[in-house]
Amino acid sequence: MMTPTTDASHPMPAAFFGHGSPMNALESNRFTAAWRAFGASIPRPRAILVVSAHWYIDATAVTSMARPRAIHDFFGFPRRLFEVQYPAPGDPELAAEVAEIAKPAHVRLDPESWGIDHGAWSVLVHAFPGADVPVVQLAIHALKPFDYHLELGARLAPLRDRGVLVLASGNVVHNLHALDWSRSDFGFDWAHRFDDAARAIMTERPAEVGRLRDHPDYARAAPTPDHFVPLLYVAGLAAAAGHRASPLVDGHAFGSLSMACYAVDAPRAASADDRRVAAGSSDPPELTRREGARSARER
Ligand code: ZN
Repeated sequence: MMTPTTDASHPMPAAFFGHGSPMNALESNRFTAAWRAFGASIPRPRAILVVSAHWYIDATAVTSMARPRAIHDFFGFPRRLFEVQYPAPGDPELAAEVAEIAKPAHVRLDPESWGIDHGAWSVLVHAFPGADVPVVQLAIHALKPFDYHLELGARLAPLRDRGVLVLASGNVVHNLHALDWSRSDFGFDWAHRFDDAARAIMTERPAEVGRLRDHPDYARAAPTPDHFVPLLYVAGLAAAAGHRASPLVDGHAFGSLSMACYAVDAPRAASADDRRVAAGSSDPPELTRREGARSARER
């Protein structure tokens, strides 16, 4: 096992991934290629702290079990998606660190209710296909204002010096009522407008990300804020570092999903400019199944 090569002068990058449809767990496309390229380009993390849109509750909580289960929190998808497992260990020690570092915010330790949801595993199967880096999830407190999440994100910054990858997973634009399933690589005009505004803020002045709520297309882009809020954590980390976020990949799916991904302090190999190289080395996801017999290549 490699030793994390991060410290205060070379902190672990942080990233926001637009995860889109859960089917991305099983597919190979330019977004999954970007996730893979990012995972392959950074120092091996000590652990991954995932802020997923799909753990959106009335508290700030952190998973603290040693063996988190994969949660299949969706319906109406093919059976093979329900068979995806992601058997990464947990990290109770990191959970305690998160609770400490977040103060004065109260973080509840969750030893059993949650695990690794599809907002996390649908991207982790690509970015860290070995499932051998410990994973801890941070719940999004649904009742807190944007500033709370931005500040909590900033407060997580010291974890980057300790080799922890903070990975937020949501979608800048996420409107399930407006989905057009016939157009997999398409974004409505209003989705592009909002996405462009988000890119301008993330790449210029991430501390002001909360202003996106005043954008005329916000209500359509984020009719519920659950997929948007993870972006605030990475904006907070960027602001804490005094750095801008850089795009890893851009794009839209099904009209009303933005697949935009951002990173803070990403190695150059993960940047959008080098996407051609990364896409050429992309493989299908190596998935662990309940039956353990078949790989994604053989399905
Ligand atoms: Zn989602």
